[in-house]
Amino acid sequence: MSVTADNATQKAPEVAAEAARRRTFAVISHPDAGKSTLTEALALHAAAITSAGAVHGKGDRRGVTSDWMEMEQARGISITSAALRIDYDDRVLNLLDTPGHADFSEDTYRVLSAVDCAIMLLDSAKGLEPQTLKLFDVCRARRMPVITFVNKWDRPGREPLELLDEIEQRIGLRPTPMNWPVGIAGDFRGLIDRADGDHYTKFHRTPGGATKAVEERLSDEQAAAVEDTAWEQAREEIELLGEIGADFDEASFRAGESSPVLFGAALPNFGISQLLETLVRLAPAPAAQPDAKGDPRPITAPFAGQVFKMQANMDKAHRDRMAFVRVGSGRFDRGMVLTHAATGRPFATKYTQAVFGSERSTIETAYPGDVIALINAQALSVGDTLYDGPRVEFPPIPSFAPEHFAVARAVDAGRYKQFQRGISQLDSEGVVQVLSSDVRGEQAPVLAAVGPLQFDVVKHRMEHEFRAPIELAHLDYSLARRTDAASAPALHGLSGGEVLTRRSDGELLMLVHNKWRLRVIERDHPDLVLEPLLAGG
Ligand code: GDP
Repeated sequence: MSVTADNATQKAPEVAAEAARRRTFAVISHPDAGKSTLTEALALHAAAITSAGAVHGKGDRRGVTSDWMEMEQARGISITSAALRIDYDDRVLNLLDTPGHADFSEDTYRVLSAVDCAIMLLDSAKGLEPQTLKLFDVCRARRMPVITFVNKWDRPGREPLELLDEIEQRIGLRPTPMNWPVGIAGDFRGLIDRADGDHYTKFHRTPGGATKAVEERLSDEQAAAVEDTAWEQAREEIELLGEIGADFDEASFRAGESSPVLFGAALPNFGISQLLETLVRLAPAPAAQPDAKGDPRPITAPFAGQVFKMQANMDKAHRDRMAFVRVGSGRFDRGMVLTHAATGRPFATKYTQAVFGSERSTIETAYPGDVIALINAQALSVGDTLYDGPRVEFPPIPSFAPEHFAVARAVDAGRYKQFQRGISQLDSEGVVQVLSSDVRGEQAPVLAAVGPLQFDVVKHRMEHEFRAPIELAHLDYSLARRTDAASAPALHGLSGGEVLTRRSDGELLMLVHNKWRLRVIERDHPDLVLEPLLAGG
């Protein structure tokens, strides 16, 4: 047995126990649904609980430094996607940020490859909105468990049953309410906990926006007296839920087929403790992930982790790159020398940080489910595996269906070398997908993005980092389909589309103007291969 394997065996009980304490998740939502507010509410609530517990009395009021938006603003167009660690009682919650821009980027999607569960956050007045749907598609493709939180119940909104219906009808996710609101949206009185013997908790607003709403447990008789018709209506609706079988079911939740639903309001802190409890109780702890060969990698195996995000340091003085790694197995100790699976080269981890919102601190150890940031990570790309001990590699993170396309050219032909270097660097970081074809030539690659903001990042970095300003000519395509070498020549001759090769994986993509054009092509050429890519498209 090797030294590493020996160590791993020794550490196994500790790693298993630490992994069991962790919940790694992300919030998927449409801008303005309340993600930042919810993040803050979760962190404050957890801090209040944790510091109140005498046993764990670290009193760690690190403050909520989760304001990623602020950080993004301060950094101009740099898009960050970091992790917020929330200590809750004896649990560790790792909340990974999905950038909350109106615009979309692949980063947002990739974060979802690094979590075990998602909270789908809905605005009670709006229900399912476009970006939530797109992100949900990624969760569905990964069969990821999803907990639904209906937010802003303190404001006028829709009927709870109607919202459940929309979830079931539009995305085929079976809602199983864990609690039920008393009082319509805009007249929020409290929550009935369906799992906990139908207990009723009445909320009282705390003046001055304190960190935790005052909650009061009432008996059925008390509640009926205080809440009157709102109580009766809620009881009737709960009865109906029982009749239609909308009860929590673990197997279908784990398979991403049903979703526990909770109601609340993040701003006045209503229903936050219920959400935290549900997350801890139901969200899966980190578990064995399949490696590239399909063999599950036990969490107690020697250290292995996967890069899910790269970020350039926008600080001009430090042109380094940071790699965000989710720990898949084993214990990470700062200073370990790991192996980079793609090249077989050693990677020293002397400089490692844990990322807490905008605050960074040096990290000494990390366990499965945690996120570490490696600096000086120029050699790494999104999807890469780092490991200790015998070789292991995780499968690549899928690329997503681009919807925006533009031809890039160097403004100054004399800086073509820098141009090429920059484009391939951004490609390997996954900032944008780079496509090319013989027809267009090497000097005019096509950049493909999930959201147009990715183009702004490319332009900015090409100019300021690689000193090769570019101009972009937008192409009138809006979707891409995967094809193969046999179909490509026939497709290439058709109007309204063109075939290009994706540099990162050699995949042949057919770009098409719009879905109508695609339908015509599919109808006229049923023999040609045109497969959808993941999400979007
Ligand atoms: P994000 O874009 O999803 O991060 O949304 P924010 O957290 O910035 O919230 C958008 C707006 O909705 C802000 O003005 C919040 O104060 C407000 N908001 C968030 N949650 C609630 C809530 O539960 N009730 C009410 N009334 N407003 C909320």
